[in-house]
Amino acid sequence: MDHILRKIVSKKETGKNLQKENEKNLQREVEKNLQKEIETDIQKETGKDLQKEIEKEPQKDIEKDLQKDIENIRDDRQVNVKEQRLVFNESEKKISEKIRASLFQRKHNIQKKEEIKEEKQEDKANKDEIECPSCKVKVEKDKVISNKYVCYSCGGYFRVNTKNRIKMVTDADSFIPWFEDEEGNNPLAFPGYEEKLKEVQEKTGLKEGVSIGFAEIDGQKSVVGVCDARFLMGSMGHVVGEKIALAVERATKEKLPVILFCCSGGARMQEGIISLMQMAKTAGALKRHSNAGLLYIPVLTDPTTGGVTASFAMLGDIILAEPKALIAFAGPRVIEQTIGQKLPEGFQRSEFLLEHGFIDGIVERNALKETLSKILRLHRKNDGFASFGDNEFMSTEPSELMKERNAGIALKSPWEKVEMARKVNRLSAQDYIDEIFDDFMEMHGDRYFKDDPAILGGIAYLDGQPVTVIGVQKGKDMRDCLLHNYGMPSPDGYRKAIRLMKQAEKFHRPIITFVNTSGAFCGMEAEERGQGEAIARNLYEMSDLKVPVLCLMIGEGGSGGALALAVGNEVWMMENATYSVLSPEGFSSILWKDSTRAKEAAGIMKITAHDLYKLHVIEKIIPEYGCADEAAKDSISRFLKVNIKEFLRKNETKSGDELSEERYQRFRAF
Ligand SMILES: [Zn+2]
Repeated sequence: MDHILRKIVSKKETGKNLQKENEKNLQREVEKNLQKEIETDIQKETGKDLQKEIEKEPQKDIEKDLQKDIENIRDDRQVNVKEQRLVFNESEKKISEKIRASLFQRKHNIQKKEEIKEEKQEDKANKDEIECPSCKVKVEKDKVISNKYVCYSCGGYFRVNTKNRIKMVTDADSFIPWFEDEEGNNPLAFPGYEEKLKEVQEKTGLKEGVSIGFAEIDGQKSVVGVCDARFLMGSMGHVVGEKIALAVERATKEKLPVILFCCSGGARMQEGIISLMQMAKTAGALKRHSNAGLLYIPVLTDPTTGGVTASFAMLGDIILAEPKALIAFAGPRVIEQTIGQKLPEGFQRSEFLLEHGFIDGIVERNALKETLSKILRLHRKNDGFASFGDNEFMSTEPSELMKERNAGIALKSPWEKVEMARKVNRLSAQDYIDEIFDDFMEMHGDRYFKDDPAILGGIAYLDGQPVTVIGVQKGKDMRDCLLHNYGMPSPDGYRKAIRLMKQAEKFHRPIITFVNTSGAFCGMEAEERGQGEAIARNLYEMSDLKVPVLCLMIGEGGSGGALALAVGNEVWMMENATYSVLSPEGFSSILWKDSTRAKEAAGIMKITAHDLYKLHVIEKIIPEYGCADEAAKDSISRFLKVNIKEFLRKNETKSGDELSEERYQRFRAF
């Protein structure tokens, strides 16, 4: 019995043992499988990057966590062999989900940690003080950065690297670099050049001295390039020239404007003659871009010198510069050594170039994006000459006050009109421009010698239609008169005017001129620089302009100096303006050798609007309601605005050739 019982017990125990053994085996198998699945999951879900990240983290932590997860799940339930098989899939899923979540959390944490570390480093660096290159004061870097890299102590400009420049002037994330893979060689096999390039590339993170590509500025598509002074002084080697030429060619094809932030020490000496060739190459590409009627704006920053100044930097339709930037062909040190004397303060700075007529304007860094955006908008494709935004009715009726004033005025003698036309308080070109047009943007310089303050010119909107407006500015008080040379233009003034007219023609903009001058400036310098040539050139070029030209005689119309701005498809005259071959004083002194008989001369010279209307010298007389003064400004300007719009509508459908033919015949008739 005992034997049998023992056997039974033993069998029972064996069974139990077997069961235990089975349980253990299964558990082992489960663990093994889980581990395998987890590993596969990790690989699948996270890819190599995370794997690397994890490798960086202490491996033990992960393993410990995983073990714990497994144990927790196992302890959670009394493991029954059969059940275990059933729950196996379930637990595996749970575990892998948990692991995945934990891994992603981990990855996130690592990234976060790194970001914080980076920020801290940046913060620390920004807290650092840097010396302002202008005032030499130690200033806080972060304050300077938030001030667009302008010194808050003296207003001096720090140089801006490519990344920050792009950030400053283009819409966020809109910049797409082009031709980044352009690679140079070492054309002269210059010793150490390749190593030097590599070193600068590593230091700046740039492949070459210019970055160029597509960008948007307030949503307006353009090609934007930035030269970086940190890259071998922004010097122009083959790759710089090639990238610019390629980008300009692509801009020509895609009909995009080009904006280039220039900054350069000049040619890249290590590339010798090949560097020199880049000047002709980039200039040629820009000429083709211009021939396609496209806009190019260089923005000159400190320093722009040498071969860059003598090529793409100076070839803009509109040239802008940052304040106080050094802009030169020969550097100041070279000049000083050559001539053996010190250069005056401010020589070759932006302000000097503006005064000498080489740039259109100096723009503060914080206004750069807005200015570029405005210019791009003014140059957006415009088919007609009369694309007015709102055609709301505007009355040409004068105000009640002006009607009353007009009624009480007696007819004036020609001499009285001469006196009225010369009155200092007479409305000026600037007054009319401000009153009739919107967003006038003044442009400066003749690109040869000087910006003549006697001539005011720029681009504006006439109810949404971009127009070029040019006027003679006289000045209303002593200081103002001196500044504008009493409205007597120099050759430089006429050259500025014709430059702006040719620009208007290129961009299909109508031209409106406001003429008020006793005559072209009569002086030694004017003769030295070719006053006669300048006036002749204007008559010559204006005769052939392919856009409508309207000329308004708003005061004195003194001889060739007035005609040089009055070769229009139509010429209109204010009621009390005069227009003559010579002043009545000059006339009487030449004819009668007696300048005191000017009054008498005025009577016979036919210089008033009514006389000239009868002689078909003018097409329209503009009412003054007594006198073109401040009180009449609104009434006169409304009359002008409505009539100018009418003039442009009338010419809207005419071709360029028709317009120049009509203008030719108009003057041919005399
Ligand atoms: Zn400073």
